[in-house]
Amino acid sequence: MSLHRPKLHSNRTISRGPKARRRILVAGGAGFLGSHLCHTLLNDEHVVICMDNFETGRMSNIALLLSDPNFILVRHDIIDPLPDIGPVDEIYNLACAASPPKYQIDPIHTLKTNIWGAINLLELAVSCDAKILQSSTSEVYGDPETSPQSEDYRGCVNTMGPRACYDEGKRAAETLFYDYYQTRGARIRVARIFNTYGPSMCPTDGRVISNFMVQALSGAPLTIYGHGNQTRSFCYVSDMIAGLMALMAAPDSAVGPYNLGNPEEFTIAALAHGILEILGLPPIIHYRDLPQDDPRQRCPDITKANRDLNWAPRISLAEGLNYTMPYFETELRQMKPALIAE
Ligand code: NAD
Ligand code: UDP
Repeated sequence: MSLHRPKLHSNRTISRGPKARRRILVAGGAGFLGSHLCHTLLNDEHVVICMDNFETGRMSNIALLLSDPNFILVRHDIIDPLPDIGPVDEIYNLACAASPPKYQIDPIHTLKTNIWGAINLLELAVSCDAKILQSSTSEVYGDPETSPQSEDYRGCVNTMGPRACYDEGKRAAETLFYDYYQTRGARIRVARIFNTYGPSMCPTDGRVISNFMVQALSGAPLTIYGHGNQTRSFCYVSDMIAGLMALMAAPDSAVGPYNLGNPEEFTIAALAHGILEILGLPPIIHYRDLPQDDPRQRCPDITKANRDLNWAPRISLAEGLNYTMPYFETELRQMKPALIAE
């Protein structure tokens, strides 16, 4: 597996001076990305309100934060009218299951999360004059006919397929964000996140890196869907959190959308072999049917984020996998064998 890094400017180190403490709502804060964001914002001495319905989020992701007086946990489903949490300065909307098998369990709820949830959070943002960031996704490009994907590509999504609840939900949410920006003056930012991985992913989440790591570490065959020649571009979690925070900190004119992801592209077969190589394991692979509408390729063009946010990922896939492996080793020791994803 190649270790080279994207040849783009790396993140600028900004001297910030004394920090202003802000009240920040992280919807989906108990999930994979949300919990990393909560940790980082608390380290920056902000007050963090984590709102989550624990559909895919885990208490273990935020357990260390519960005793922090600046951390407030609100168990709530964002499709329902929001409870009174007082004024906030910033809102990150990360609430939505991101793993295909998880968001397909209750597709109507996934759509409601993306649409009704977005409306509830946008109304709160307008009422507080808060900045609001939407975690959109590379899935708005569907099964793209062009690569890499830049923000002006309009995508190729099947409105009736099993992924549509997520893809079309996220597309509708983007539209809602722009309409609130145009008509209500909402201070929006839209990030289109490409595949991101790292510690705190749920081992039974069903996404490819969690599946492959758990399978490899437990001596099970790796399950490749299809022939493994479909591609993805994988971003390490700390790079993604830096990108989301850079976008939130950008001037209000930076509404986006901005692709955030690592432009190094790999086939799924190369990913499988790379993980097995790191662990020094023989290539034992089981091939399964390719799920319907599985995108054949995915690679972000991050020129716009690099130019406007001075952001680029720093961690190569090989480095990121090495950082992630010990986390899954620890999780596996605590898991029952029956839970290992197949
Ligand atoms: P995740 O599934 O680990 O986290 C999602 C969190 O949202 C969970 O804590 C879940 O319980 C919560 N949630 C779901 N529906 C909710 C609802 N109706 N009300 C309240 N809470 C709800 O996923 P993640 O990887 O952390 O992704 C976070 C966000 O980033 C998602 O919006 C996802 O679409 C987006 N995203 C992630 C990736 C990625 O590769 N990680 C890629 C593209 C987009
Ligand atoms: N995949 C795979 N084996 C697995 C899980 C996923 O081959 O055990 C493939 C999946 O078909 C897709 C890619 O890996 O082509 C990425 O899947 P993931 O669910 O992580 O995210 P997606 O990008 O499809 O939303």
